[in-house]
Amino acid sequence: MVNIPPYHIIVIGTGLAGLTAAISLSKAGHNVEIVEAAPAVGYIGAGIQISPNSSRVLRKLGVDKYIQKYCLEPIDLKMMSYHSGNVLVETPLKEPALQRYGSPYWHIHRADLHRGLLEAAIDLGVKVYLDNRVVDIDPYKPSLVTKTGAKFTADLIVASDGLWSIARAVVLGKPSPPVPTGQMCFRITVPTKKLEGLTGLDDLITVARNNHWFGPNGTMLTYLLEGVHGTMINLVLTCDARMPDGVNQRISSKKEAKEAFKDWDPRILKILDYADEVLEWRLFTHKEAPTWIHESNKLVLIGDAAHAMTPYLAQGSAMGIEDSAILGGVLARLPTPDTLPQALKLYEKLRVKRTAKVTAASIDSRWFTQMPDGPEQKARDEYLLANPGIMNGHKHNRSDQQFLDDLFGYNAFDELDKAFKEAVFRSKRPISHLME
Ligand SMILES: Cc1cc2nc3c(=O)[nH]c(=O)nc-3n(C[C@H](O)[C@H](O)[C@H](O)COP(=O)(O)OP(=O)(O)OC[C@H]3O[C@@H](n4cnc5c(N)ncnc54)[C@H](O)[C@@H]3O)c2cc1C
Repeated sequence: MVNIPPYHIIVIGTGLAGLTAAISLSKAGHNVEIVEAAPAVGYIGAGIQISPNSSRVLRKLGVDKYIQKYCLEPIDLKMMSYHSGNVLVETPLKEPALQRYGSPYWHIHRADLHRGLLEAAIDLGVKVYLDNRVVDIDPYKPSLVTKTGAKFTADLIVASDGLWSIARAVVLGKPSPPVPTGQMCFRITVPTKKLEGLTGLDDLITVARNNHWFGPNGTMLTYLLEGVHGTMINLVLTCDARMPDGVNQRISSKKEAKEAFKDWDPRILKILDYADEVLEWRLFTHKEAPTWIHESNKLVLIGDAAHAMTPYLAQGSAMGIEDSAILGGVLARLPTPDTLPQALKLYEKLRVKRTAKVTAASIDSRWFTQMPDGPEQKARDEYLLANPGIMNGHKHNRSDQQFLDDLFGYNAFDELDKAFKEAVFRSKRPISHLME
């Protein structure tokens, strides 16, 4: 048997995509190091939704044992009218996730997820260099230099440096900054202990649900988190941008948030009275990149660096997690230097259509859920009330069976198996057929 030496891979960034990729590549047998700009692994006071398509990956990679005790499974997605809070439609989440898609839908605090991923990566032997912002990349060698002056050389650089990726410009040969969507959100977590006993809040602070309000030019979302910091209610309040030009994130106040949502469900305004920390976050997306691979075939983009999308479908990190499964999978099966270009091409081929489709669906969600007051909104609400639950051809993608099957039913590992089987059936020639 030929003994194939593993690749030495440098991952840029300890975001959700970078850490998952490090785990996946490590499990594929490669030596992985991560360089991260921040002095500590990121803490954002906010939750994240992990749908079955991404929980499937995390479970297969063994990350569940690090995070499961911090995960809540929402029973349903409850969609309401912004002003009255009247329910328009409820669609189940927990039961179809487990029964139809075979993997749970989770809510988790980002800090708990990050910590779990980091522990899993370190247990696999991944080395993490914090406080090492990458300032220069030589994609041909490939190597990179960090702000400390340290130089790292590898066989492959996997760039998961997020929305403002510097590697994206290196891959494309020109700057490709993210594009503002014109919207922002307030991100807030409030301990539910502070809210106990307040009239009208029981359902919101005791039942694991995904509560969603549709309003003119905005949405509100709340769900519960059960992390190391106790039980919290997580709020994401999206509206048209009210931030000064050039500011993309800043500490805000409950007064600002209440002002922006003053005509909305009074229950949320009541919760805001108890908020200590309010963050403002400008929302961006990326134009589709013509490629994610540098011509040297030694630098590749994943996660938001490749395809940042709007958050209206809560799928941004899910796509980065799926990317990581596919990249690890192709580099497990094509692990030699001469097959690296083919492996990267196959990764890109398997991921581009999927991420473009989900990006487009996320934009559709924005328009469907944020209609201004008027006849169109009224007709939408009447349609939703008349068409409860999940069915084929539903006008709202979160109730459309076919759409949900594609989104949540996606199995990155099956996709890999299918691609490799097809290559074998199509020809006895090398795997390069997959690139066509
Ligand atoms: C309001 C909101 C809600 C969302 N909700 C969800 C949700 O519920 N579910 C979901 O799936 N997705 C959600 N998303 C999307 C999700 O947060 C992102 O898609 C995901 O976090 C991106 O992960 P990433 O690892 O690609 O990038 P990032 O998380 O941005 O990580 C990039 C990392 O690279 C580091 N870095 C950057 N530049 C350098 C450099 N030069 N040198 C070294 N390190 C560097 C950064 O410090 C950072 O640690 C949401 C997004 C928003 C804005």
